Amino acid sequence: MEEQHFGPVWFIPGENKGKYPFCHSLYIEGAGVLIDPASDRDRLVQLRETQGIKMVWLSHAHEDHFMHLDLFDDLPLWISDRDSAPLSSLETFLDSYGMDNHDFRGYWRKMLEEEFHFKPRKPTQFLQGGQIIDLGVVTVEVLSTSGHTPGHLAFFFREPKVLFIGDYDLTRFGPWYGDAHSSIEETIDSVNRLKRTPAEVFLTSHETGVFIGDPGKLWDDYLEVIQERERKLLDLLKEPRTIEEIVGSWIIYGREREPKAFFEFGERGLMEKHLDRLIKSGVVVQKKDHYVKTG
Ligand SMILES: [Zn+2]
Repeated sequence: MEEQHFGPVWFIPGENKGKYPFCHSLYIEGAGVLIDPASDRDRLVQLRETQGIKMVWLSHAHEDHFMHLDLFDDLPLWISDRDSAPLSSLETFLDSYGMDNHDFRGYWRKMLEEEFHFKPRKPTQFLQGGQIIDLGVVTVEVLSTSGHTPGHLAFFFREPKVLFIGDYDLTRFGPWYGDAHSSIEETIDSVNRLKRTPAEVFLTSHETGVFIGDPGKLWDDYLEVIQERERKLLDLLKEPRTIEEIVGSWIIYGREREPKAFFEFGERGLMEKHLDRLIKSGVVVQKKDHYVKTG
């Protein structure tokens, strides 16, 4: 993938098309702001040496967005208040994922430290939705876009009309809302809000990454994945099912995948969010250990 510049907003492609565990980064030339340092370690080191990075912003507190933050331990770090706690310690991070399986926690602890260079960080400042930041070279509008995580942020760069939409990434996989405090409803609201933003270029964190002009149908395709998951779950719940049976149906990932600490954890997290939503709307009831569709 090619690095692309939109005025002072630089799109720094992540390794392997920015697929997990990587993401695309942004760099604001002249202002020295680096957003989501998990793209390409060599390029980030080079950017620091040649451009003089002054601070790091995080769109949210996920490991595939902060993998190379360790290169910038000495620089100011800005993130939303609501996503700051997971950075404070490894245990708080795992709690934010709602991870209660002892073995999975062990796997993640090792992976976070060894692959994602996790070190506790205390942000120097909180970014807030609605905030307008004048960086001199560009004006940034901070958009609170909760759902994926409670404190996920998007950034609208006004003059070049560039919108960075982070992990509402318009991929075929669809949205992630499996953290303890993620929300399906808020995800839908955030995507609809981003869709209405008057941008000319849309940048995302993973895969395609750069959309010149409105991504059009992709917005609806992306949200449709949520409905598709729900339809499959409701179909399964024509018969009473335990959570283990639901997770074992692999509605999200399509097939059983390894490592379980990663894929089974994700499958469960997202399915639990769907079950909560269906129970609240009265479409599904829980009877002891089983879930079943009403009517
Ligand atoms: Zn994320």
